[in-house]
Order: sequence, then structure tokens, then C-alpha cells
Amino acid sequence: MSQSQHTDDRPVLVLNAGSSSLKYQLLVPESGEVRTGGVVERIGERGSDVADPAAALETMTDRLLEEGIDLGKVPLRAVGHRVVHGGPDFSEPVVIDDAVLQRIRQLSALAPLHNPAAVTGIEAAREHYDVPHVAVFDTAYFSSLPAAASTYAVPRELAEKHSIRRYGFHGTSHQFVAQATAELLGHPLVDLRQVILHLGNGCSASAVRGGRPVETSMGLTPLQGLVMGTRSGDVDPGLHAYLAREAGLTLDEIEALLNKRSGVLGLSGVNDFRELVHLVEAGDEDARLAFDVFIHRLKHYVGAYLAILGGADVLVFTAGIGQHSATVRAAVAEGLDELGIAVDPSRNEDDSTQPRVISPDGSRVVVAVVPTNEELAIARQTADLVR
Ligand code: AMP
Repeated sequence: MSQSQHTDDRPVLVLNAGSSSLKYQLLVPESGEVRTGGVVERIGERGSDVADPAAALETMTDRLLEEGIDLGKVPLRAVGHRVVHGGPDFSEPVVIDDAVLQRIRQLSALAPLHNPAAVTGIEAAREHYDVPHVAVFDTAYFSSLPAAASTYAVPRELAEKHSIRRYGFHGTSHQFVAQATAELLGHPLVDLRQVILHLGNGCSASAVRGGRPVETSMGLTPLQGLVMGTRSGDVDPGLHAYLAREAGLTLDEIEALLNKRSGVLGLSGVNDFRELVHLVEAGDEDARLAFDVFIHRLKHYVGAYLAILGGADVLVFTAGIGQHSATVRAAVAEGLDELGIAVDPSRNEDDSTQPRVISPDGSRVVVAVVPTNEELAIARQTADLVR
């Protein structure tokens, strides 16, 4: 083995191509050193000069050149792509070849709002960078959910024919945070029962026993579960037929309504949680209701996951809202003393960027804030695969 293989400091480029943005980061997986990163926004929007993910990649390349980074000359190790839906096919990261790309494209039926952008991003990146490309799937971690958790009670033949099951999403984040929490507590991962709340623009909860997920709140699509910035989360499945019949909406309109105009936005008029909290503090009643619905649904899942796990050792908050909103964390924990869950007010208010415990010493359930790092997780999984 050559010296350079022992101390490989070549970076991995991590790309997360969404429907309207391209997030990128250039980082060294072993050390976690971030060489650069950013986001190209408003892709395909009216008035934007970035038409599609391929154009976004050009914009990214230009920006990096301005920073003095010529991606054509940087010795890239690989490109890691975040792909939202791996369907029934992908339970692990995979090196992308034409057949894999075709399969990801076909999975667009399961994720019409997400996978097409990833496909276009991968196609453009493969043309630009002649290095291995790896797909890391948001669903992969949850592919081992027990059947009792992953199965919808619909006719089995239909479910099999159309790959209908609960897949779960944000898996890269939940897996990373489960491991990082074990490190924070100094306990082996295999000994821990964890309830993890990933609260960002998208929100999801998971129950993890011994490092393996046993439940999660998202399902066939990332629409199920918690209330999110613009997504409704759980609604009565009968709502779709009711809206079609009574409001005369088409399927596409219902899908757009529940994904893009519901959640915190639909209830309060804003989807950024900081704005919501400001409105609540200013006495806005719609914002108050949105906040209360958001917290109520969170408690619903925390309670459910305590039952699924038979009690928890740790309750973990992560992602933008989870990491930064002491108000949300305090509201979730409020009234749960009987269940062993409480937060220490001054620990909770400490807005550190480090993983930390915010429950009082000696609590039955440790409450922790553990920053997620999906880019680092993707870079590491990419590097492991191409090593
Ligand atoms: P993410 O998707 O993880 O980047 O999280 C984005 C969400 O985190 C947005 O709704 C932000 O408003 C929210 N967020 C970020 N900082 C704060 C904060 N200090 N308080 C409340 N919400 C925050």
C-alpha cells in the first residue's frame, strides 16, 4: 500500500440536488475538514438564471473558482450524492453506474418531488468529474425496520406489486446522530434505547434500539409523521378523497397542497421556525396554534416511541430547530416528568454548537442536543465504499 493510501487527504465532493437548490460541500471524510461549501438556490424559478441542476453545477464551479478552488485540478477522491428515495432496491450506499442511475430514475414514481432532481444532478456531475460517484440514500438506514413497523395495512398483493411500505427518510441523519449520541454519553451504541427528533425544514422522529431503527415517523414518502415547515405530516387518509370530491382538487393539486402549502406555513403563513417563534411572542394567534399543533404532534410521537422501546435511555434533538430552539425543546419536555423526561433550563438555553446534555443530573432519561452532519456522514460512507 502506498504512503498516499495511508494518509489520503483528498476531499470528497458531497452534492445534495433538490428540486430548487443544490447544496455542496468539499470535505475530507477522515478529519472532517471542510474545504468549502455552499448552496445554489432558486433553481428553475422565474427570474433565476439557474435553469436546472446542470446549470447549478456550473454556478457552483464558478463560485469555487472565485474562491481559488479549481475542481478540475483538485485531486477529488469521489463524489457522494444524497438521494432521497432508494425504494426497495437500495439498503446501502452504492457506486453509481448506468444501471444504478436508471434504477434511481425509475424510483421517481415513489418520490416524484425528489428523485428527478437527484438524477439530473448525478448526470451532470458524472460528465464533469471523472471519479467514482456514490449514491447515499435517505431511506437506507430504515430498510431494516421490523415488518410490523414497515407494513401498511393494505392488501398484500397490491403492496408487493407497487412497493408500498414505510421506507422512512433522513436516515443518514438519524444514523449519524445515534452514533454521535452514544459517543457523547460514553455508552456503547448497542446498549442504548434512543428517541431521536430531527427537526429541520423537514421533520422526522425515530426509535432506535442498539443502533438499529425500530420505528420512524415518515413512510412511503417524506409526507407522513410530524408537522413540518410546509408539509402536513399525518392527516386522515380519507382527506384525499374528501378534497377531491368536495373541493374539486386533482391528485396533483392535493399532493402540492399537502407538501408545499401545509404544515407550519399553512397554519401561520410563515414556514421559517424563527419567524414563527417571533410571531408567537408577539401574540399572533395563528402562529400560537401552529406552534401548539407542532408540539402536540411531537409529544404524540415521543409517547409512542417510549412505548415501542419499552422506555428510553435518551431523547435527542437535532437539525435546525432541534439544535437551536430552546423553546421547542422545553415545550416538548414540559409535563413529561412522570416519564423521566425533563430539561434543565440553563443547560437548555446554552446555544452551543457542541453535542451536549440538557437534562438535570440523575434524570431517568437523558435529554441531549446533538448536531447532525449529513454531509460528513455522506462523505464517510462514500469514502468507505470507494476505498
Ligand atoms: P434545517 O433544515 O436543519 O437547516 O433547519 C431549518 C429550520 O431550522 C428552519 O425552520 C429554521 O427557521 C430553523 N431554525 C434555525 N435556527 C433556529 C432558531 N434559533 N430557533 C428556531 N428555529 C431555528
